[in-house]
Amino acid sequence: MTLCEQQYLDQKLKEVFGYCEFRPGQLDVIQHILQGRDVLSVMPTGAGKSLCFQLPAIIKDFKTIVVCPIIALMNDQVYGLHELGVRSETINSGKSREDNISSWQNFVSGQAKILYISPERLMQDRMLRSLKSQNIGMFVIDEAHCISKWGSSFRPDYEALTKLKGCFPEASIAAFTATADYSTRVDINKKLTAGNGKVFLKGFDRPNLSLEVRSKRNLKENLVDFLKQNVSHSGIIYCLSRRETDEIATFLSSQGINSIAYHAGKASEVRDRAQNRFMTEDNAVMVATIAFGMGIDKPDIRFVIHASLPGNVESFYQEIGRAGRDGLPSETVLFYSLSDVIKRQQMIFGGAGNDEFKLLEYKRLEALIGYCDAVTCRKKVLLAYFDEASQPCGNCDNCLNPPILEDLTTQSVTLLNAISETGQFYGASHIIDVVKGAQTVKVREKKHQHLNSFGLGASLPKSFLQSLVRQLVAAGVIRVNLEKFGAIQLTGKAAGLIDRHETFFGCVNVGNIKKSSHSKLMRSTKLREDDLSLYQALKAVRLELAKQKGVPAYVIFSDATLEQLALHKPASEAEFLQINGVGKKKLAEYFKPFVKAISDKLISLDSMY
Ligand code: ADP
Ligand code: ZN
Repeated sequence: MTLCEQQYLDQKLKEVFGYCEFRPGQLDVIQHILQGRDVLSVMPTGAGKSLCFQLPAIIKDFKTIVVCPIIALMNDQVYGLHELGVRSETINSGKSREDNISSWQNFVSGQAKILYISPERLMQDRMLRSLKSQNIGMFVIDEAHCISKWGSSFRPDYEALTKLKGCFPEASIAAFTATADYSTRVDINKKLTAGNGKVFLKGFDRPNLSLEVRSKRNLKENLVDFLKQNVSHSGIIYCLSRRETDEIATFLSSQGINSIAYHAGKASEVRDRAQNRFMTEDNAVMVATIAFGMGIDKPDIRFVIHASLPGNVESFYQEIGRAGRDGLPSETVLFYSLSDVIKRQQMIFGGAGNDEFKLLEYKRLEALIGYCDAVTCRKKVLLAYFDEASQPCGNCDNCLNPPILEDLTTQSVTLLNAISETGQFYGASHIIDVVKGAQTVKVREKKHQHLNSFGLGASLPKSFLQSLVRQLVAAGVIRVNLEKFGAIQLTGKAAGLIDRHETFFGCVNVGNIKKSSHSKLMRSTKLREDDLSLYQALKAVRLELAKQKGVPAYVIFSDATLEQLALHKPASEAEFLQINGVGKKKLAEYFKPFVKAISDKLISLDSMY
């Protein structure tokens, strides 16, 4: 690329989008698209994929079709572009026939050069025929992993897109996804571009996300504690079941937290309303099953919490990936318990698929258990799963608060003996009762009070024993047999420990409730106290404007842009335009209200002294 071309793109980036520089990886993709070449771009969530096709679509004189699986996502992008002064349209089943016709006419007449459409509408014969005369230069396939059976969310209607290249050989294909391992990438590329697309891979690392795993003991108390430290932020709490979702949401509301429940058991109007609230309010906590999330592009989600164990590392990564798209520090916490591990195993072995598939799913779950039980940097464990090497992140619980490893051979052998003496027939809670010497009904019924191991670990805390069982499962010393209703059994590795030829080093502080003294988010903000109150005032202005216009707050300005405004306090138009996130259209529209808020605040601070 010549210097001149680069300057032109920089200038357009500022003028239209208001950004001062490209994010890593964006420029390469844009350049290829501008040359009319097919691309498959795999970039982590929040890397800024939309801009990679929107900028070329805006500057080229052809028209662009964007295929997108979700109506809410299409609407958000159309809003967002409108705020930038760029006209685009969407045709989808969520709109009336008349509205769709008028959108189509705007596209045909060239008033809008970008059309967002669902795959099933696009691939209808009539639509394909009509598009032939429309000078379509590019088809963008968003969420492209949906085309692959290898990917995590195959959609049959995406499969029809395989015909696209044959129908429009002149147009280029630009495919985007955040999650695709090697075989998924090959598959997508083969289906969309006959394997000719240039693949761009941007690493999986999301340095702004902190990682933490906590024991699921006292879940509710822990949640409230966390949320009280994050009162003015929005986030998601993922639950395993609808029941858990409703229960947690009701509980949090009773604690004065602005929480919303969302799952597939609710009527679609209720779900739409819930989603709207979450998108527009800037302190809402969404308590949801995984039915919520696909297509949520709210950039200022400050935390994602898993109240229960997710299904595997890919899902976990995709779900936490919804936090911090704007690049600002965001937190992720996973609450972990053995009973959730067992539930997940039951879901896999009781679910559909042949034995081979189930075994594969089980291996994927095991990788996630490995993440939960990791005693070294969690970021390293996570990225290693995606074949990416990394340095210790300094931003996970294990980096910040390294677990203490101790020789736990004696305690482990006590547990193993209890398992063996009771016939490898009982679940974890009964084994722990035996080790602790608890006189329960079951113990007496089975006469387990007479065993050698009975009461041998009476002094060990129950929470420690629970954690030790999990660690021994993770280390493959024992396993949970689902065919025998969750009975804990010894594996080949147990013998070496029992006869003391081997040792077991484990973690004693796993499961302690870690209370961070203050929120990591507050710690990392660049703003001083005065600026922080200006920042809050600017947020209020943004919310008011968003309400007037009926759009989500972040469409007006991102949190990052508000932070910049609070820090630099622009007074003139030229200064306002310098702020990252302010382009031509937003300068014209928002200079006055925001600069007024800044000067009002400065005057009021002045008069305090
Ligand atoms: P993705 O689709 O990759 O998850 P988005 O396209 O939604 O991410 O972008 C995430 C956020 O980053 C959006 O708020 C977007 O406006 C912002 N963004 C994109 N490119 C840049 C850039 N060059 N500089 C600053 N912010 C950017
Ligand atoms: Zn780390």
